Amino acid sequence: MTTVLRNVPEMARWSAETRRLDLALGFVPTMGALHAGHFSLLERARRENDRVVVSLFVNPTQYDDPADLEEYPRTFEADMEMIESAGVDTVLFPKYKDLYPDDYRFRVTESPFSEELEGGAREGHFDGVLTVVLKLLNIVRPTRAYFGEKDWQQYVLVRDMAAAFFLETEIVACPVIREGDGLAMSSRNVHLTPEERRLAPEFHRILTGGENPEILRRRLKERGFDVDYVERRENRMLGAVRIGKVRLIDNVGI
Ligand code: AMP
Repeated sequence: MTTVLRNVPEMARWSAETRRLDLALGFVPTMGALHAGHFSLLERARRENDRVVVSLFVNPTQYDDPADLEEYPRTFEADMEMIESAGVDTVLFPKYKDLYPDDYRFRVTESPFSEELEGGAREGHFDGVLTVVLKLLNIVRPTRAYFGEKDWQQYVLVRDMAAAFFLETEIVACPVIREGDGLAMSSRNVHLTPEERRLAPEFHRILTGGENPEILRRRLKERGFDVDYVERRENRMLGAVRIGKVRLIDNVGI
C-alpha cells in the first residue's frame, strides 16, 4: 500500500525514520504523466533499496513558456496505479508553496553547461531543474536518486551539482526506454498527431546514423524536422527537434 504525503514536514519525518532504521532509501523525482520510462526507474529503485519514494510535481520554475506548462499532461489516478504496481512505499505530492516558501528567491545556477543545448533553447530551464532537485534531495535525503539518460544533460548537471555541494545521495543514471519503433518514451508524445507520430521515430533512426552532427542535422531537415540542435558531447550524440507543436529530445551513445 502506497502512502501519499502532501507536505514537507511529513516527508522529512518519514525519511528521518527510514534513516533511523538504517534502511536504504531510493528516490525517483518525476513530473507525473508516468509511462514505461518512469516505470523502469521505479523498478530499479525498488530492486536496489529497502524503501522507495517517488515525487509528482510539475515544476513551474523550469518552464519559460506558460503554454507548455499549462499543457503538460496531469494524470494522477493512472500515475498512482503504476506507482502501486511498482511497489513504491511513498509518494511526495507537494504544492508550489510547499517547495517554494521563498517564492523562488533562492536558486541554483550553473555555468556554462546549463546555457548550452536544452538551456540554449529554454531560458532559465536548468536553474529551475537544479533548484527543485536540490530542494527535493534535501527533503527526502535518499541513499540513491534515479535519473533517466533520456534527459542526459539534466542527469550530468544533477550529478555534478551533487558532487559540488557534497550531497550524500548517489546519483544513478538509467538507460532510455523506447517504443518498439525507437521513439524515446516521453509524456509529450501524447500530443503528436497520428501523422507526426509516424514521422517521430525517424528522429532516433537518423541520430544513430553517423558521427558528424552537421550531416545528421541536414538529414533531419530533409526528413521534415525543425532542428533545434544536434551536437556531440562526451561520448553521446544529442538532438532536439520540433514536429508541429511538439518538441522532442533524444540522445544516443557513440
Ligand atoms: P519527467 O517526469 O519527464 O521529469 O521525468 C522523470 C524522470 O524520468 C527523469 O529522470 C527522466 O529522465 C526519466 N525519464 C523520462 N522518460 C524516460 C525514458 N523514456 N527512459 C528513461 N527515463 C526516462
